[in-house]
Amino acid sequence: MIPTTFEELRLTGRLPSPPGVGLRILKITQREDCSAQEIGEAIMADAALTGTLLRIANSAMSGGVRPITTVAEATMRLGVRTVRNVGLGLSLVSAYRIGKCERFDYDRYWSVSLARAVAAQRISEKLRYSAPAEAYVVGLLSDIGRLALATVYPTEFSTLLASCDTHDQSALRVSERERFEIDHGEIGSYLLEEWGLPQVYSQAVTTYENPPQINVASNGELALVTNILRFAALFANVCTASSADPRIPWSRYIEELEVMRITLRLEPGAFFEFLNGITREWLEWGKVMHVPTPTPADFAKIAELAQRATVPDPSTAIVADQPAPTDAPKSHVPAGADGHVASGDRRGLRILAVDDDPMSLKLLERHLVRAGHHVQCASDGNEALQIALDTNPQVVVADWMMPSLDGIELCKALRRIESGRDMFFLLLTGRGEEDRIVEAFDAGVDDYVVKPFIPKLLIARIKGGQRVIELKEKVERDRQTMMNQVAELGLLTRKLRTAAMTDMLTELPNRRHAMRRLEQEWEASVRQDKPLSVIMIDIDHFKQVNDSHGHDVGDVVLKETANTLRNTTRQGEDTARLGGEEFIVVCANTNLDQGMACAERIRAAVESHTIQCGTFHKNVTISLGVAQRGPGTTSVSELIKSADEAVYLAKDAGRNVVRAAVPPSARSKSA
Ligand code: GH3
Ligand code: MG
Ligand code: MG
Repeated sequence: MIPTTFEELRLTGRLPSPPGVGLRILKITQREDCSAQEIGEAIMADAALTGTLLRIANSAMSGGVRPITTVAEATMRLGVRTVRNVGLGLSLVSAYRIGKCERFDYDRYWSVSLARAVAAQRISEKLRYSAPAEAYVVGLLSDIGRLALATVYPTEFSTLLASCDTHDQSALRVSERERFEIDHGEIGSYLLEEWGLPQVYSQAVTTYENPPQINVASNGELALVTNILRFAALFANVCTASSADPRIPWSRYIEELEVMRITLRLEPGAFFEFLNGITREWLEWGKVMHVPTPTPADFAKIAELAQRATVPDPSTAIVADQPAPTDAPKSHVPAGADGHVASGDRRGLRILAVDDDPMSLKLLERHLVRAGHHVQCASDGNEALQIALDTNPQVVVADWMMPSLDGIELCKALRRIESGRDMFFLLLTGRGEEDRIVEAFDAGVDDYVVKPFIPKLLIARIKGGQRVIELKEKVERDRQTMMNQVAELGLLTRKLRTAAMTDMLTELPNRRHAMRRLEQEWEASVRQDKPLSVIMIDIDHFKQVNDSHGHDVGDVVLKETANTLRNTTRQGEDTARLGGEEFIVVCANTNLDQGMACAERIRAAVESHTIQCGTFHKNVTISLGVAQRGPGTTSVSELIKSADEAVYLAKDAGRNVVRAAVPPSARSKSA
């Protein structure tokens, strides 16, 4: 169902839409009877698109496979659906390079989108998602809603961007909804739906920016795609973050990277290499697609920080059950129109049958298919290895004696790679080979059947294999659950830690937090020889508020004042409630004059803010004392004491003023 607002957007006729060739592809594939050849021809009309598509097709194939050189071949290997989506995505990139929305950075938009695309592809491979080339397209288009807003409402969206912190996606979405009654996630979702991308992708576009509440069991693929997009977006944000931008939430990024590392099951070193690899690919893609790529972030440093980070947040670490990998065109089971075997089909196993004798192979295939399995065939060891790498079968049934790579060597080769370790390997042996069977078990073979085999026996052995596979999968699921529980515990710990550092009434950091912060800043300022100031704040005549209007009104006044402090202070100015009606602001790298200016800014803001609550309808005022770390102040407590004394000076001067602390040296002279 499309809400009126999206309908209205559409009526403007200005929503992004694929131009020329993209539109043609869209039209062709909307017909039931469209053929791969028609799509191929439409794409080939555009040389740049053809080149890029082949590049994507080749990078989506695992190593060792012969390169794809024609669109027809790409369509065969990737499936019509994927080629169509890739064509669509690429045609959009070339059409919306520039635009009229002043505050919308078109170059950056595509740069980040491209980083997300490359990362989505690589991450989806790591998570064994069956369609990495599609993940590329969804990564590329997952933020298309923002481009749509910039295209439909260039002026209004520009104003909105100017007034928002664009690093805070949820805040941005709230502002978008306030102004346009719809946000970029929803628009993106409707657009992808309109362009005929699978629903799981249009849904994922709205879910990946929100903390996930997805039921993994009920929709494994959505959870998986959401996760892929979230990690891809994380990579893109970190990779394109400018270290000079103070608004970048580094500590959050570092935590999320750690969650990503654990989910991808990579050691820190390998994870860092993985991210670097994606970065290199992104730079290359930038050249190919003429999208500017700013200097990438230093993942070496980030990885080092990530290693020291705390336990990850489980709410962001959802891992879906592994879906069935892509079935290659050689599959001999009825596959979906898109070339994918339906995931979640528990009855049949994905089996790779290998024999150099065509007759034996046919026979083997027939028995396995009849038993309900999904069978792919290979006529020698080398071909089998390639197919196994591409499609990750659960069972391999291979003849022993084959030219070049025989059954045992094939098994050894598979056991050497991560994905091959869990495959159930059944060896077919000739009569004379039985006494060498120990050699086969040494090579990692799980079981064997003597040729010519009795079909019933072969199927029974495979059933035995199925039990082993299911057990292994259960162990893996349990491991995942346990990992999530460990992470959940980490979240709980972190929540408790946060609660212990937060003032319940005002939700500002509390005294304990302030003291810890101040000690850290003190050390940093001594080490780097930089100034440090604190501002002590006390509400004037606050007791009268309680006495005349009640304690509840007093509480509201405290909360409102805390909000004003929160909104008036800047980066590097840390506000906390010390207790009662007293607050503190720790100002890093700030000298006394700058501290006084900051205090004056706060004083004026509190004075000009009218509070409305019950019988109370006026402003309150505050008295402020500022002290700077100097030669006379040798400890944190002395610094606080000086600022406290300055508050008394302010109260003595009639309240609603800022006073500087008298330096200890001047005090001792006057004493
Ligand atoms: P001055 O201008 O000299 O600072 O006068 P004051 O009335 O603000 O100072 P005083 O220290 O006499 O009064 C502070 C009052 O704050 C007393 C106490 O009841 C009240 N108070 C402390 N904590 C809370 C709180 O959490 N909620 C409310 N409503 N009142 C609180
Ligand atoms: Mg007080
Ligand atoms: Mg007071």
